[in-house]
Amino acid sequence: DGERMVTAEERPDDADVALRPQRLADFVGQARARENLSVFIEAARTRREALDHVLLVGPPGLGKTTMAQIVSRELGVSFKATAGPVIAKAGDLAALLTNLEDRDVLFIDEIHRLSPAVEEILYPAMEDFVLDLIIGEGPAARSVRIDLARFTLVGATTRLGLLTNPLRDRFGIPIRLEFYSAEELEAIVTRGARLFGIGMTADGAAEIARRSRGTPRIAGRLLRRVRDFAIVAGKEAIDRAIADDALLRLEVDAAGLDTLDRRYLKVIAENFGGGPVGIETIAAALSEPRDAIEEIVEPYLIQQGLTQRTPRGRVLTPAAFRHLGLAPPTSLPA
Ligand code: ADP
Repeated sequence: DGERMVTAEERPDDADVALRPQRLADFVGQARARENLSVFIEAARTRREALDHVLLVGPPGLGKTTMAQIVSRELGVSFKATAGPVIAKAGDLAALLTNLEDRDVLFIDEIHRLSPAVEEILYPAMEDFVLDLIIGEGPAARSVRIDLARFTLVGATTRLGLLTNPLRDRFGIPIRLEFYSAEELEAIVTRGARLFGIGMTADGAAEIARRSRGTPRIAGRLLRRVRDFAIVAGKEAIDRAIADDALLRLEVDAAGLDTLDRRYLKVIAENFGGGPVGIETIAAALSEPRDAIEEIVEPYLIQQGLTQRTPRGRVLTPAAFRHLGLAPPTSLPA
């Protein structure tokens, strides 16, 4: 659904203004990740060694790409970026790897989507900084070994469970990004308004923050749209009334849920009595890909205590029924 307002997937207009923090110190939130990273970066710089490989895990829009860029900047090295689905052949990855210089950062987004053949190439590259290539075919085939620069791989994935074990085991620094608190998002929205050159009251920022699904990318997008409403209304500053009005028109409700979130909750509540119901059934009922539901819709609803993943399927909580304005079935646990 291309019109979905609260989706965390990247859209072209996300890149239009440099909201992206440039240094670790400007990065709001993820305190534990930042503290750990700063120690490891400092140590790598002092020893003049490549930083250990870093795996960033978390839902879309929480800052994985941003953090990878910051790592390279803090290390003072070059940043090369690609994505799992883009690397079609082993040779494509080989070309990327042989172009790296010592201590460079190679960022692979959606690293769980590498093909097995490409992943095979990555193991010795990560472990021993060598490339084992097969040249030619059939009886004439021979293998050659090429030395690589000692680089840092930063991989990003939406879910750790999608990674193969051997790949996961090769990351020395696994980092899980969490949804942002309302206060952190407020700081991000306030900073964004300043960069956009539009006024923002404290309660306006709080309203946008509260309805951003814990996700900076969504906060940035909502801020842009609310700004449009404010400009058209001839207001110099965004306050709570403008924010609330704009967000309702964008069908973002008071809890920050959008139409797809509500459809998800409604389907389980109304068609399946609150669950348990299997993810495939939900995906079919919503006509949405299972992956999108598991990676984008559910993490936030789970974090908000509206739905649960159980061995027998998804189950709504009483809070979800209350959110929909429905009475919870009496069989549900309180
Ligand atoms: P991911 O790679 O996890 O999908 P990105 O790094 O692309 O997420 O971040 C999405 C958007 O959110 C970017 O536009 C970025 O500027 C913004 N953003 C992410 N993290 C922060 C943060 N901690 N503070 C401010 N803005 C952030």
